[in-house]
Amino acid sequence: MTTANVDPLVARMRPFGTTIFAEMSALAVRTGAVNLGQGFPDTDGPPEMLAAAAEALRGGRNQYPPGPGVPELRAAIAAHQDRFWGLTYDPDGEIVVTAGATEAVAASILALCEPGDEVVCFEPYYDSYAASIALAGAVRRPVTLRPGADGRYAVDPAELRAAFGPRTRLVLLNSPHNPTGKVFTAGELALVAELCQEYDAYAVTDEVYEHLVFTDAAAPHVPLATLPGMRERTLRISSAGKTFSCTGWKVGWASGPAPLVSAVLRVKQFLTFVNAAPLQPAVAVALALPDDYFTGFRDGMQARRDQLGAALRAAGFEVFSPDGTYFVTADVTPLGGRDGIEFCRSLPQRCGVVAVPTQVFYDDVEAGRRLVRFAFCKRPEVLAEAGARLRRLGEDG
Ligand code: PMP
Ligand code: GLN
Repeated sequence: MTTANVDPLVARMRPFGTTIFAEMSALAVRTGAVNLGQGFPDTDGPPEMLAAAAEALRGGRNQYPPGPGVPELRAAIAAHQDRFWGLTYDPDGEIVVTAGATEAVAASILALCEPGDEVVCFEPYYDSYAASIALAGAVRRPVTLRPGADGRYAVDPAELRAAFGPRTRLVLLNSPHNPTGKVFTAGELALVAELCQEYDAYAVTDEVYEHLVFTDAAAPHVPLATLPGMRERTLRISSAGKTFSCTGWKVGWASGPAPLVSAVLRVKQFLTFVNAAPLQPAVAVALALPDDYFTGFRDGMQARRDQLGAALRAAGFEVFSPDGTYFVTADVTPLGGRDGIEFCRSLPQRCGVVAVPTQVFYDDVEAGRRLVRFAFCKRPEVLAEAGARLRRLGEDG
């Protein structure tokens, strides 16, 4: 029946409303609040990259690029992974360019999962994971990350082991992790690798924050694909949005053994076919920038982490300082908050700042009820203003 009273949306998508990022950014625009919700930088990426994009736009690179991506970008993606992680992929067949990491994740899940297959993931999880799993008719098996005594989120090995079973098709691993800022440790990665092999499961790794691991992190970033036995079963995903401060470009990629990449490409060709022709050569230029671009980017973000962390502590939050990404999570309990959603909905009115409640990224809502996430990928003066506003929270009782 097609009447106005019936929700036309398929049942598997009905649990998913408007994304929390869109909701909170709209709230920031409506109220004029400082937006520390949705994670996007407020400065542009490297000038060489922007110049290359302008040149490509004016130089006639505006028609459909090849399905797997333009050759110079695939070559640059391969060279970058070899340079930083010692991972070698053949640009012809082992790399596919996608519309952001989001499409790479969606296409991977749609390509690999039959209805009823299980996907092990870690909660809080990035919101598109749950939706992509649902679109595939697959079932998510979340493992909850919980803050430990040192303020770092950790995996319970028994919980992780219990999440695997005969229907496990793949594990979706995001490290450095949004929203907790966690960098998975060597021990945690080894257990993931062991379980993937024991259950003959694939791994899909979301490494969009691969260049945002701070100098004082407990663990360095180690791509899961570098562990013994993992390259052949891993699709490694990243994107330009974070590393080069161009979240609106939506240029991402997946790398892996040819059969896996070919499966992703077969799905991708019917989702978007191809994407971002003139931006692809520009991202190739960015990926080839010297090492000091990448360390400078990290150091700048680390200073902002420290700036916002200090401001949040001064305002009275319990702060879980991140080892990576550009997000910090905080517990609102010391400020009298009981529920992160309520807290974030009232925050613009109370002090003119927007944050994101992380409970929307949990199946176990209680585990995240009092946690909120702030993005610190903003200019220092914007963070200073947000900090001054947040100080008012303590004052309004
Ligand atoms: N994965 C994670 C963990 C993210 O935080 C984001 C967005 N910031 C994405 C994927 C999406 O990346 P893209 O914009 O390249 O699609
Ligand atoms: N990845 C960004 C974040 O976590 C937002 C992306 C989006 O709005 N979908 O804030």
